Amino acid sequence: MNSEFNIIDRYFSRPACDALLGPGDDAALIACKAETDWAISVDTLVAGRHFFPDTEPATLGHKVLAVNLSDMAAMGATPRWITLSLTLTETIAQDDAWLKAFSSGFFALADQYQIELIGGDTTCGPLNISVQIIGEVERGKALQRSGARPGDDIWVSGFLGDAALALQFLQQRIPLTEQEAASCLSALHTPAPRVTLGKALVNVAHSAIDLSDGLLADLGHILKRSEVAATIDFNCIPCSPALKNRLQPENAARQLAIDCLLSGGDDYELCFTVPKNRRDLIARQAGIKLSRIGEIVPGKGLTVLNTSGSPLIFNKKGYDHFLTR
Ligand code: ADP
Ligand code: MG
Repeated sequence: MNSEFNIIDRYFSRPACDALLGPGDDAALIACKAETDWAISVDTLVAGRHFFPDTEPATLGHKVLAVNLSDMAAMGATPRWITLSLTLTETIAQDDAWLKAFSSGFFALADQYQIELIGGDTTCGPLNISVQIIGEVERGKALQRSGARPGDDIWVSGFLGDAALALQFLQQRIPLTEQEAASCLSALHTPAPRVTLGKALVNVAHSAIDLSDGLLADLGHILKRSEVAATIDFNCIPCSPALKNRLQPENAARQLAIDCLLSGGDDYELCFTVPKNRRDLIARQAGIKLSRIGEIVPGKGLTVLNTSGSPLIFNKKGYDHFLTR
């Protein structure tokens, strides 16, 4: 039988190198550096709400960390330390294969970014996984939602909407070919956080956010905090061939595809605004697809223009835990 302590010992205790003190005491210790701000964030994944209870545990280990890394990316911070709060069902607590796969998925991504697990909490109850993260950024330089200015270009990284399309597929609302399903499911299960891009945007972007609740909702947060409006061009929003096919006028899934692209959520790409005279700096972000989708303008509200230049109709704004049912 696994006890709380041998779960921690076997799967989640690794010596801390960078922190002053890692797991094993009442709290971890970190030395604060001069001229550095900390970016601190927490994200929780709840079984049955954020993921299907039978999701591959290695995938889950990756994703719970990836969503936190994405918040660091959005702030332009370098992720450094994490704590992990695990609520496990009695069945999972005794399932060594599950625990092993979960911790390997988790540590594989942690190692990729050289971040340290410095503590956590392990309890019994409905499956619920929470990661807290601390990142470092040069004093006063963190990217924020509040910095957008009229005249800024609006950019997004990667392709949007694939994770939402995968969810529609898993819920049997839309068919996908085997190849489409593979790439959309990997966007849903193993998103690649844009940490390198976020750091490169420090001193370049005026504002940034990561796309977790859908483009319209998340860009809406930038607009609200910055007290500005935006116009975006629907046709410039980057999407995969799978999604693009379904946007064709004759396609039965067109409205669903529009909603995935604009409001789908779970993309974990970055949306950021940059003054036009810095376009050349953006072009130099080699290796990541970046698309200019619109412009910040004075006023209030968000307009999405379609090909003919008229405003586009869409159904949903974004995901909200208390309003979306
Ligand atoms: P306390 O009772 O003081 O809260 P715990 O018994 O909860 O301490 O935890 C013992 C030690 O194990 C602590 O240092 C804690 O940070 C660490 N720990 C507990 N759960 C985890 C976990 N899931 N991952 C990493 N460290 C953990
Ligand atoms: Mg505790």
